[in-house]
Amino acid sequence: MPTDERVLAYGGGWLDRAAALRGDPEWVSARLAEPESVLLPLWRERCLVSADDTPVRLSGPAAAELRRVADEVVFLGLDGGVPRTGGPVAVFAADLSSRPEPEAVRLSGAAAAMDVRTLVGRLGPAEAAVQAYARGLLHWHRRQRRCGSCGAVTTPREGGHVRACGGADCGRLFFPRIEPAVIVLVEAPGPPARCLLARHGGAPEGAFSTLAGFVEVGESLEDAVRREMAEEAGVTVAGLSYQGSQAWPFPAGLMVGFRAVATAEEIRVDGVELLEARWFTRDELRERMATGRPLGRVDAIDHRLLHDWLAEGV
Ligand SMILES: [Zn+2]
Repeated sequence: MPTDERVLAYGGGWLDRAAALRGDPEWVSARLAEPESVLLPLWRERCLVSADDTPVRLSGPAAAELRRVADEVVFLGLDGGVPRTGGPVAVFAADLSSRPEPEAVRLSGAAAAMDVRTLVGRLGPAEAAVQAYARGLLHWHRRQRRCGSCGAVTTPREGGHVRACGGADCGRLFFPRIEPAVIVLVEAPGPPARCLLARHGGAPEGAFSTLAGFVEVGESLEDAVRREMAEEAGVTVAGLSYQGSQAWPFPAGLMVGFRAVATAEEIRVDGVELLEARWFTRDELRERMATGRPLGRVDAIDHRLLHDWLAEGV
């Protein structure tokens, strides 16, 4: 079953992003002023959590107080899972990054600041998705304070989904940036069934994973798959099939999963991005798992690509 039928960590469209409404500043201000609205505080790349590692959710006077001291407040969406009189609750994120960490923790009534990726196994899927979304959006705001064309200060619009240059003769609009990458499970050209795994530069001895790379300007996703496999592993691939995608806002990724079939068995690693690569049978992968070596990180799409492939054969 292709991965696009199932929700991967950090995705799932849990919030209604209300794109048609958030362009109206009065609508955003009215939602922000509602006592039921939820405010999620973040500090740099981390969410602020209570003593039990639950992300802090503020509303009412505590949310109003935090909004006053936050660097930026952005609208994330409407949460249909939390109904209130008059419609779903609005969810916002507040950035406290300019403060020292202990101050951000104290201001938000939290116990600590933690990366959502370290919490993913313990958070519900919707909570992890919303925290990752907030992290990625606030990261972009911190890096888009000035216009890349004229250098003037930019200001947020549309609930924080656009920034506009304030330069007199410019006015350029900036949208949150996404950097797509392909991640590929390459199958051997003939029997026995095998897949190609590699040890990436900097990875410890014996740590093998699927191949991946960023999409370059002027490339389709398929072009990127063919180029990356050829450059990194010296493998020509055909028979590409899309397997699903994963939001990866750490800070701005979109992981696009593919399968491909190599046209020949020969492998030639570049020695830089990939230190070694080889073909693995399903039995070899199961053996690795049995000895405590997981197939990819549990929150990442490569884990899903590998487990799907394993499930297809004995
Ligand atoms: Zn400008």
